Amino acid sequence: MSFVPANEGISKLKPYQPGKPISELERELGITDIVKLASNENPLGCSDKVKEAVAAELAEIGRYPDGGGFILKDQIEAQFGFGHERITLGNGSNDLLEMFARAFVSEQDSIVYSQHAFAVYALVTQAINAQAIEVPAKGFSHDLDAMAAAIQANTKLVFIANPNNPTGTWFEEAEFEAFMQKVPANVIVVLDEAYVEYFPENFNSLKYLDQYPNLIVSRTLSKCYGLAALRVGFALASVQVTDYLNRIRQPFNVNHLAMVAAVAALKDEAFIEKSREVNKAGMAQLEAGFKALGLNYVPSRANFILFDVQADPAQTFNALLKEGVIVRPVGIPNHLRVSIGTEAENAKFLTALAKVLGLDAKA
Ligand SMILES: *Cc1c(COP(=O)(O)O)cnc(C)c1O
Repeated sequence: MSFVPANEGISKLKPYQPGKPISELERELGITDIVKLASNENPLGCSDKVKEAVAAELAEIGRYPDGGGFILKDQIEAQFGFGHERITLGNGSNDLLEMFARAFVSEQDSIVYSQHAFAVYALVTQAINAQAIEVPAKGFSHDLDAMAAAIQANTKLVFIANPNNPTGTWFEEAEFEAFMQKVPANVIVVLDEAYVEYFPENFNSLKYLDQYPNLIVSRTLSKCYGLAALRVGFALASVQVTDYLNRIRQPFNVNHLAMVAAVAALKDEAFIEKSREVNKAGMAQLEAGFKALGLNYVPSRANFILFDVQADPAQTFNALLKEGVIVRPVGIPNHLRVSIGTEAENAKFLTALAKVLGLDAKA
């Protein structure tokens, strides 16, 4: 027992379990040639233009970054059409998710999110000791009607993810619009679009930002842009909401190399297109692989797939580790999540999966 008192929310907090790093597994099992398909990273890494841009700025490491993030906000403005006064930069979008809760929610308030939603929503709610209202999912998807109906007088914020992680499920524009119309204007809606670049057929949420001053759209450079190690995300919102967020934002929360990398990454549309193609091909490869093994999966609009192992996911996860493949248990019975890799990585995963489950692939 610790005698150091933490605040009540923190003392009950179960920390986020990140995916196993490759180096850790190498040490534990003494094997090399490990494939990590656990954290939805871009299997292509990042754009070469990002590497050049970062290399050119190494001499600046001794200086504090621009706390206002001018160059990055300029690039975001040029690309997405929102001025600096509507942009908040985050040390990854996780940093932003925490800012949203801290800026708008007090202890006596509640936050609404879906069952099977991104794990960080529950964590930030707990960390500020607010009340969590977890709304049952419909299948594996957000039930937006039920979520709107679940809003209480003390609800200050709703987290929704499109597509959602770890399920890959998505909602359409009509559902989103109907939802926004039902949410009271004093309740913040955080629309987390961490994977939006992968499926441009997803509706353009940004056009709703003018109509709904309580809407925050959150984006990250960690996934399709390939900057997971550098930690950059950004939020677009009304001027008023952005002003509050920037009051609590740490002044130097995004480092200089990360901002320089983000500018280069945002400019390199060819890299995004290539990443999208690799992801589409990999998704088709994995879906065909699951079908051949007779395994069910949840259709996804992200860079990962949730699939049904028809067995204990922890055992399957451990057996796959021994084969040199890291996937992700996500707390959903019988299911594991696999990130879409390169063709060779996907093939290695499918072979290992067939082996550990004792299944034969049917062509
Ligand atoms: C990965 C992910 C994020 C955040 O990633 P950062 O690296 O912190 O930017 C946010 N939301 C969802 C749904 C994610 O899957």
